[in-house]
Amino acid sequence: MKLRMHFVVDPMGWFCLGMVLFIWLYNTIFIPKLVLLPHYAEGHIPSALVVCYYLASLLCVSALIRASTADPGRLAPDPTIPLAEREQWELCNKCNMMRPKRSHHCSRCGYCVRRMDHHCPWINNCVGEDNHWLFLQLCFYTQVLSLYTLVLDFCQYYYFQPLASMDPVVFTGRHELALLRVSCFMALVMFGGMSSLFYSQITGILSDMTTIEKMSHSTDGIGAHRTWQQSLAEVFGTRWKLLWFLPFRSRRPLHPGSASHV
Ligand SMILES: [Zn+2]
Ligand SMILES: [Zn+2]
Repeated sequence: MKLRMHFVVDPMGWFCLGMVLFIWLYNTIFIPKLVLLPHYAEGHIPSALVVCYYLASLLCVSALIRASTADPGRLAPDPTIPLAEREQWELCNKCNMMRPKRSHHCSRCGYCVRRMDHHCPWINNCVGEDNHWLFLQLCFYTQVLSLYTLVLDFCQYYYFQPLASMDPVVFTGRHELALLRVSCFMALVMFGGMSSLFYSQITGILSDMTTIEKMSHSTDGIGAHRTWQQSLAEVFGTRWKLLWFLPFRSRRPLHPGSASHV
């Protein structure tokens, strides 16, 4: 596991990442405080609902932090190119270094990234071969958390019994409606945005095309026909499907001998 942390120096990226962390923190504080914990204390809901919310929240922020601080697949400064794979390498005219085909030079980060998908300002990092799996987990868990939040916001008004313990004098009691409306708005935006992003990411992986290749109408990515399990196993670095959902692990490429792993 590469323990080297990655921090891209980009104030715009820090701002975007800060906004995403704020949305996560807002909902992780207010949804349990306004909805889950009071209803659990009054016996309206089982403890499993509270545990599941905190679990979804933990998985979401873990995927965010790992996707943001993981090495996306930066090329070594002096790579050794196996003779048999020479034709699959090319020169980057921006950093003057040899790189495997399908790598791209990121102008925000200032270096070449293997099988770069795109640069994402919301995680302030490139999405490349080594952290694409974490980015997919982030899209997935953000959808889960925002959908869960939306359902709870809805239930608070139309389904759950009124709370006897809500104190109308404290801040959260006085501004309950406004706080929940903000939460609802954030969850709607996140769910809508992440669903479309996740869909385009999955279709890209299944057709073996990165976002950059799709945008430039390149046919580089269209290779051997693979099943969806093979395509996803390649991205996640394992055939164990349960591990596809875990951000607390390291990824090893399934085919370490290929041109992209030198
Ligand atoms: Zn370069
Ligand atoms: Zn980048």
